[in-house]
Amino acid sequence: MEKKKKRKLKKGIILFLIIFILFWLFLGVYLFQHKSFDTKLKEHGYSKEEIQELKSHLEKKNLEIVLEYDYQKTILHILNEKDFQEKYFSYYLKFLNRYPNATSYDIVFFVNHGLEDITYNPDLHDIIHHEKFKEEYLDDYLKYYEEHQELDAEKIVIDVNTNKEEEDPNANLKPVGGEVTSNSNSNSNQNSHKNSNSNSSSNSSSNTKDPKEEDIPLEEITALFLGKQYMVDRNMDRYRKYYLSHKNLSADEIITRVNSNIDLTAYKDVTASDLGKGDLLIVNKYYYLDKNYVPSNLVAVNSKHGRGYLKKEAYDAFIEMYNDAVKEGLYPYIQSPYRSYSYQTTLYNNYVKRDGVKEADTYSARPGYSEHQTGLAMDLGTSKNHSIGDFESSKEFTWVSKNAYKYGFILRYPKNKQYLTGYMYEPWHYRYVGKEIAKYIYENNITYEEYFEYFLR
Ligand SMILES: [Zn+2]
Repeated sequence: MEKKKKRKLKKGIILFLIIFILFWLFLGVYLFQHKSFDTKLKEHGYSKEEIQELKSHLEKKNLEIVLEYDYQKTILHILNEKDFQEKYFSYYLKFLNRYPNATSYDIVFFVNHGLEDITYNPDLHDIIHHEKFKEEYLDDYLKYYEEHQELDAEKIVIDVNTNKEEEDPNANLKPVGGEVTSNSNSNSNQNSHKNSNSNSSSNSSSNTKDPKEEDIPLEEITALFLGKQYMVDRNMDRYRKYYLSHKNLSADEIITRVNSNIDLTAYKDVTASDLGKGDLLIVNKYYYLDKNYVPSNLVAVNSKHGRGYLKKEAYDAFIEMYNDAVKEGLYPYIQSPYRSYSYQTTLYNNYVKRDGVKEADTYSARPGYSEHQTGLAMDLGTSKNHSIGDFESSKEFTWVSKNAYKYGFILRYPKNKQYLTGYMYEPWHYRYVGKEIAKYIYENNITYEEYFEYFLR
């Protein structure tokens, strides 16, 4: 009897101890996980208030998605957008990652409209924010824009509105001239058949050339280009060929495009970059660097100016610019300068793993094709906020964008030029080319592609 009681008591105590230990164990694990979540967000650069805000808007699985990306203030702005929908959260962040300069409004707008795969750029921003923008014409604006990237947002909105209003409400818009640019652009592909069977609309362009005209004498086509600014003799055949499929474009526009190589296929019709050009070498989707190319005289960037390495002449120019910026109370910060071939390979492969080749190509250069491998390019943030995606909204950007040329830097991927450079507008990316050339490019509003082809190649 006694023995049995004792044994029962023993069992009870052991059971209690097990439960007791398990309780504290679980509590410990729970608290640890919880704490480490906050800690992780903190390590990403989020402040206490921002962490609270993230937690109040997002469920756990979405907080985990936040941790997959670098810190960006825009993420917090997205949460506060009027039309924010949590079920689209991962799409918003993917969009932001591809287009760090997209505003939170634009991200929510395009994703909510099912256009998360759109090739975003500031022209589209200007279109959807235009005072005469009408949401019901969205597809038409996108279609028209795809075919007329050389036009500005104002012209696109007005042309489409005019076309839509002049015709009966069911008629589709006929794009002026019907010209399609050769670079791939996924804007509004879903509408591409919708608009192709209309031939009733008026043509708002002054262009009256018949696109079916075929037997134009060679000399007549040549004459269109002779004497034009930036014409290069060796490209004459290409101008003529491009003209035959783009008759509604001006000769100057055709010269601009062919000189920028957009009649070729990116990553396919490629040439090794001519290293003999020194600091004026060009790297883009048509000119590449060997995997063993490492620029000479790379120097370490001082931590007060940023991080990483730049070619000495580029860094010296930055310091000169920085010292003048500081006098204005501004602190540009070198966030991403030289990148080795192998680092670019890692970056690019990670993007491909996550988003696929097609998507990765829209925002990341392939190894060998990144200008960062030259040691002459840098992505800027500010010393207060290193994020390059926030750079455009800083005072530093306003100043740098107006003054960088005085120190030998050009904004390498400008607004409205993505169809020439192959890259969306990157307000943070500057390239050193020396003062004289930078001044010319700034004052004449041309790209480095155009400058290189005409003056340097
Ligand atoms: Zn860059």
